[in-house]
Amino acid sequence: MEDLRYIDDVSTLVLDKDKCIGCTLCTEVCPHCIFEMRDKKAVITDFNACMECGACVNNCPSGAILVNPGVG
Ligand code: SF4
Ligand code: SF4
Repeated sequence: MEDLRYIDDVSTLVLDKDKCIGCTLCTEVCPHCIFEMRDKKAVITDFNACMECGACVNNCPSGAILVNPGVG
């Protein structure tokens, strides 16, 4: 799955680092491994691989991630 690509620069994925509590759940549920943990905060490492499935949003306990499913 990691090799599949979608259209560049159209994902609605937004991460609010200030709201992240470092739970690591987004790194576990994302099917494209888009998140990594750095200094106990999630960071987006491969924005254009996001397929807007919504798994990260649905699992983030602090509301730090936003995505509009199906737009990209
Ligand atoms: S919406 Fe899906 S593909 Fe995009 S970052 Fe979240 S879990 Fe990964
Ligand atoms: S799921 Fe939310 S709170 Fe947890 S690491 Fe990811 S962005 Fe941070």
